[in-house]
Amino acid sequence: MARFIFITGGVVSSLGKGLASAALGALLQARGYSVRLRKLDPYLNVDPGTMSPFEHGEVFVTDDGAETDLDLGHYERFTGVPARRTDSVSSGRIYSNVLEKERRGDYLGKTIQVIPHVTNEIKDFLRIGEDEVDFMLCEIGGTVGDIEGLPFFEAIRQFGQDKPRGQCIYMHLTLLPYLAASGELKTKPTQHSVKELRAIGIAPDVLVCRSEGPIPQKEREKLALFCNVRPEAVIAAQDLRSIYEAPLAYHREGLDQAVLDAFQISPAPRPNLAKWEDVVDRIMNPEGEVHIAIVGKYTQLGDAYKSIAEALTHGGIANRVRVRAEWLDSELFEKTGDVASHLEGYDAILVPGGFGERGTEGKIKAAQFARERKVPYLGICLGMQLAVIEASRNLAGLTDAGSEEFDHEKGERRFTPVIYHLKEWLEGNRTVQRSVADDKGGTMRLGAYDAILAAGSQVSGIYGTLTISERHRHRYEVDIAYRERLESCGLRFSGLSPDGRLPEIVEIPGHPWFIGVQYHPELKSKPFAPHPLFADFIRAALEQSRLF
Ligand code: GLN
Repeated sequence: MARFIFITGGVVSSLGKGLASAALGALLQARGYSVRLRKLDPYLNVDPGTMSPFEHGEVFVTDDGAETDLDLGHYERFTGVPARRTDSVSSGRIYSNVLEKERRGDYLGKTIQVIPHVTNEIKDFLRIGEDEVDFMLCEIGGTVGDIEGLPFFEAIRQFGQDKPRGQCIYMHLTLLPYLAASGELKTKPTQHSVKELRAIGIAPDVLVCRSEGPIPQKEREKLALFCNVRPEAVIAAQDLRSIYEAPLAYHREGLDQAVLDAFQISPAPRPNLAKWEDVVDRIMNPEGEVHIAIVGKYTQLGDAYKSIAEALTHGGIANRVRVRAEWLDSELFEKTGDVASHLEGYDAILVPGGFGERGTEGKIKAAQFARERKVPYLGICLGMQLAVIEASRNLAGLTDAGSEEFDHEKGERRFTPVIYHLKEWLEGNRTVQRSVADDKGGTMRLGAYDAILAAGSQVSGIYGTLTISERHRHRYEVDIAYRERLESCGLRFSGLSPDGRLPEIVEIPGHPWFIGVQYHPELKSKPFAPHPLFADFIRAALEQSRLF
């Protein structure tokens, strides 16, 4: 039976609760425990699949095909435990389950209320797979006091009472603002936040305080006294140079010890942090640097491509180099047509996934530049589709090649669709069907699918195997009908779905490194196990940098 750690936040949002949860998970693993991390989000969307990535950050896709919160990406990157559909839930999902049950008559005519019906639904969610691990870490999104969050806080309070004493603890993350004028760290917002938490019946066992600098002993004691926690359980979380320092930094501050103490686990097993020491050593002491251009839409910056930014860092870790990634707006050179002046000087070019036509002509130019100038190119999902369009237009003579996606958007036929809308495919032995009208969340080819790599291809060498499993999130697909035509002009379809119908990978033999993949390799990369494609892409970029 798992022990539960509930992680809440107060004072302000964006304090790095997800990161703190993930780092704690990694520290418990380092002491030999098994863990699973979960996110409970108070918003009313049923899942983040339809939420704008610019508002909410990247949609992280799990092996079992769920579109989830980007925090699940952090969890996976720190613990290596593949997230599942049942590791993320929103108020929307909880309410929709409750209402579905009500319509079915499951509640036998009772009046449906937040307590107990909604809270019971949340608690049922928390119990899923509780026998599988030593520790279940459950992060509650938002901050204490938010209206939507209340049912979650009430549910975790009840949960602690339902379980035997000592099986659940509460960890609260707050901010200690520094007032330069008086030279003080202020504890009052934290006191108020804890007061709010206690008013709804939750007394935190561990307090994690974000602050710019160390917490002086005096403030630590004050926090302990006023917030009713032990002084050793007041953990300072200072700003870090790299997120991957978090496990070691939290360990130095005594977070894992405080958590084990709260569970009264004694003696605590000793931690083995060698893996994290190596990762941090590689990040802090790089032996070189590469410059990567990520060509996207101007608005798609930052968190919208969190996993790609992290996977590039992991590629750097593998090669002991610092990766300087710069985001370029493809519309920049769409207007001027002058791709070279923007892309010259980069050691490699990455075109990430995306939706919609805007900006694609510029990305196609970037693919052409990379192909012709022999600059390493990694095309992911849309980035692969655009590389195929580029080759179709400029190598295979299909000058009007394009994607059905763009025609659908405009409502008119303008392109020869080398990329078409996929309406039927195999998921294991099951046939999945979709219609053109299915264009909202959850209707894509989602989650892990196998691909078979061609023996002797560049990718088979990189992966070191001929069967891979990678995560997908797309509606459109390269049309295999163009294979022969494109292969006769120099492209190689080096990875296919097991039934041979769906192109998964294209590469250009003779080019130093030109690979397009229909899936999202970035979702499976970890700092201690960099994804082979990203590791080799950065290696190729390093080689390219030495040519100058
Ligand atoms: N828009 C493309 C599709 O739906 C690519 C999606 C992506 O890049 N994730 O197929």
